[in-house]
Amino acid sequence: MHFIDTHTHLYLPEFDIDRDEVVNRAVSNGITKMLLPNIDADSVDQMLSLVNRYEGICLPMSGLHPTSVKEDYLSQLRNVERVAQKTKIIAIGEIGIDLYWDKTYLKEQLISFRRQIMFALEIELPVVIHSREAFTEVFSVLDEFKGKSLKGVFHAFTGTFNDAEKAINMGFKLGIGGIVTFKNSGLDRVVKEAGLENLVLETDSPYLSPVPYRGKRNENAYIPIINRKLADIFEKSEEEVASVTYQNSTVLFNL
Ligand SMILES: [Zn+2]
Repeated sequence: MHFIDTHTHLYLPEFDIDRDEVVNRAVSNGITKMLLPNIDADSVDQMLSLVNRYEGICLPMSGLHPTSVKEDYLSQLRNVERVAQKTKIIAIGEIGIDLYWDKTYLKEQLISFRRQIMFALEIELPVVIHSREAFTEVFSVLDEFKGKSLKGVFHAFTGTFNDAEKAINMGFKLGIGGIVTFKNSGLDRVVKEAGLENLVLETDSPYLSPVPYRGKRNENAYIPIINRKLADIFEKSEEEVASVTYQNSTVLFNL
């Protein structure tokens, strides 16, 4: 079986001591590609050095994460565009709205989200969306771009079935990771209704480890655990889930 981890922060310091081993474990578990969402200007160099070291396996994105939107957001946004012009990136991400950590910069978050969507449309790339306690705001921005052939993924999706339906109707996939293995997450029923053809796999490592590693550092090699959980939910073979989600990811990110 082959898998794509569509969302991993493998460049973060959490992996400094054993990054090569983490990648090796992932590759021997069938993970052929790992997609790297960017956070802000500070994470670019580390991300790109990984892309060089694991050529063809680690693929970069460019984006300003909503929790990194501060006073300097305009220069950060220019940097997002600069990186995209210098490097072959696969998506604009991660971008979106986060009202869980801090609402101080909501206005700037909205401006940044819009501007990065416009840029993604201009260079014809998908967007990777981070939405935390912000579905209303995220959908209202996406509504402004109706009919514009925008596509992308709601990463670490945790919404209701209504949210899922709305996202899918707007041309988005749902990124499913460790949360689906948590007891009482309720996400199993939502993803089943959403349908396998609308899902892609992700770890969001080092965060959101699946059971039985919940609370510990997450890593790319755990992707088959998510795949197995989806196979249970959909009552399909692991091979079929792997193959459909792999295909969904290659189409979405044009890999
Ligand atoms: Zn992320």
